[in-house]
Amino acid sequence: MTTDIAANLAQVKSAIAAAAQDCDRGADPVSLIAVSKTQPGAAIEAALATGHRHFGENRVQEAEQKWPDLKTRYDDLSLHLIGPLQSNKVRLAVALFDVIETVDREKLARALAREMAKTDRHVECLVQVNTGEEQQKAGIWPQQADAFIALCRDDLGLPVIGLMCIPPVSEQAALHFALLREIAQRNDLPHLSMGMSADYAMAVRFGATMVRVGSGIFGARAPMAQ
Ligand SMILES: *Cc1c(COP(=O)(O)O)cnc(C)c1O
Repeated sequence: MTTDIAANLAQVKSAIAAAAQDCDRGADPVSLIAVSKTQPGAAIEAALATGHRHFGENRVQEAEQKWPDLKTRYDDLSLHLIGPLQSNKVRLAVALFDVIETVDREKLARALAREMAKTDRHVECLVQVNTGEEQQKAGIWPQQADAFIALCRDDLGLPVIGLMCIPPVSEQAALHFALLREIAQRNDLPHLSMGMSADYAMAVRFGATMVRVGSGIFGARAPMAQ
């Protein structure tokens, strides 16, 4: 398993580099976020042993079990929250994560701003956009994105660095990547978190600066409730 993870990481990194070169996006770097949700400590250790330091988790409680010890051992970790954040977990999330990718509603934005002011810990934020306008999915709707970004950044002073999306499974991801890029450009936001195991190379061609890859690195996950 250890060798698989090292080999998979190397393979994904070279595919990202190849896609970036293809589309002439210059030296614009792409961060590979290794999505370690449901993965045991041994799998995470295998990735850490290769020197990889960017990870994503989608549940605060699960991350709280897995990461505090590792954070004391590796001071250069970057841990991203990529799943829904409830307001009552904001304190834990601000303490543990380095990037919160799922800011998507006013109540949450206000709670994050209050907690960051109180603790003086300023965690970089991405606004999650529900590009497919799916009822069951988190994220601000595209037509409300500009106003919400302005609220977060200008009124609340959150360190918003970009946008994140999870395209509908049944649609062409490219259309959603293009829409996310357009919203980021008109709001002067430099970062785009988009692309997963099945489509990260395409996301890079559409300007992703962060791709979130789970099964492509760690292998298939046991099924979990979303
Ligand atoms: C699980 C997850 C991923 C990784 O998905 P894979 O298809 O395993 O690469 C990426 N982003 C989010 C938000 C996730 O929940």
